[in-house]
Amino acid sequence: MKKFNSVSDLVRELQPVNPVYCIRPESIKLACNFFVNNFPGKPLYAVKTNPHKNVIKHIYQNGITNFDVASLEEIKLVKSIAKDAKLYFMHTVKNRKSIEEAYFNFGIRDFSFDTKDELIKIFEATKDAKDLTLYLRIFVSNEHSEIDLSKKFGASPTEAINLIKLARPLVKKLGVSFHVGSQCMHPVSYSKGIKEIGNIILKSGITPDIINVGGGFPSKYPDLYPQPLENYMEEIKKAVNKLSLPKQPELICEPGRAIVAESGSTIVKIELRKKQSLYINDGTYGSLFDAGFPNFIFPTKVVDTGKDLSRRLTPFNFYGPTCDSMDFMKGPYMLPNNLKEGDYIEIGQLGSYGLTFRTKFNGFYSDDIFEIEDKPIMSVYQNEQDEEYKSNYLVA
Ligand SMILES: *Cc1c(COP(=O)(O)O)cnc(C)c1O
Repeated sequence: MKKFNSVSDLVRELQPVNPVYCIRPESIKLACNFFVNNFPGKPLYAVKTNPHKNVIKHIYQNGITNFDVASLEEIKLVKSIAKDAKLYFMHTVKNRKSIEEAYFNFGIRDFSFDTKDELIKIFEATKDAKDLTLYLRIFVSNEHSEIDLSKKFGASPTEAINLIKLARPLVKKLGVSFHVGSQCMHPVSYSKGIKEIGNIILKSGITPDIINVGGGFPSKYPDLYPQPLENYMEEIKKAVNKLSLPKQPELICEPGRAIVAESGSTIVKIELRKKQSLYINDGTYGSLFDAGFPNFIFPTKVVDTGKDLSRRLTPFNFYGPTCDSMDFMKGPYMLPNNLKEGDYIEIGQLGSYGLTFRTKFNGFYSDDIFEIEDKPIMSVYQNEQDEEYKSNYLVA
């Protein structure tokens, strides 16, 4: 894969007609180092967030060797890049065939469930295996998160007590997991989840061997400035200590967004301007799905190609290239007011849930991906980046 020193070098050299996706290995390294050094247990990377080969490779090389996978394809992918990686099959609704293949062909022993039916299915598909580590996923409130996952997954407190009793004698190791929802803006969500596990322990008389606090760790966006990630780590440590269990359970977490968000960006070209609407060459059927209906506002920056750009910023919205009117990104995106057709914009924080959402709708699809060595537009790991971003782009 070709590498560039900076986004402006790339644009000057390639003059790209299609959207281009950037991967910053240095950002991935900083994020992995943070979780390896600060999480009081074992971090797993949630593969769905960004399954690009190079991304998986960099994560593995930077010390995160455990991966949370949700399908047979993800299992095959990770194994083809890092054959010694340990995989955890953490989807609570799996098809039998994939459980069977995961267990017998790929050596996976860790699975999650949130119903009795799934528990039975796992044992049937593994021919009553005696060496399983199973994680009961419980329901927790997703109130502080931008993306709510609580309607789809998780056992209620009463269900959880029955399921934990049912599973205990059948498994080698027992875990309990939760997910606070993605881009969780308050650390208290994690201590609430851990406290909920405490209630289940009290009522069932069963202590799990493993507590899995899931993903949800936030990245930074122009309108979403979370507390430092250190506070999340402290909150988790305190809450686990407060359970005062006779034996400390093992801790694991499954970050996706926080590992890769700032490592990725999309470079788009303006095809047309209608007043404050920019018609760009990528959209909600491409890497910008989250800019549509979930209405994430991503940081934007004009790519410096030596042209004189106005210092005055005005709010813009974007339309994507397809013929669907839902291909619209409300923003507001603050950009210089003299932008016009042919100018390039870098849209940041798209390393998570960007590449993975691309479709070929209307024939618009790009797979032009390069590694870049410059810094991301915003960062939770490099504060000086933020100062620069704030002074240049947040003041109109
Ligand atoms: C999506 C997902 C994650 C990652 O979530 P982030 O919010 O991106 O950190 C972790 N665990 C499970 C089970 C998931 O489905």
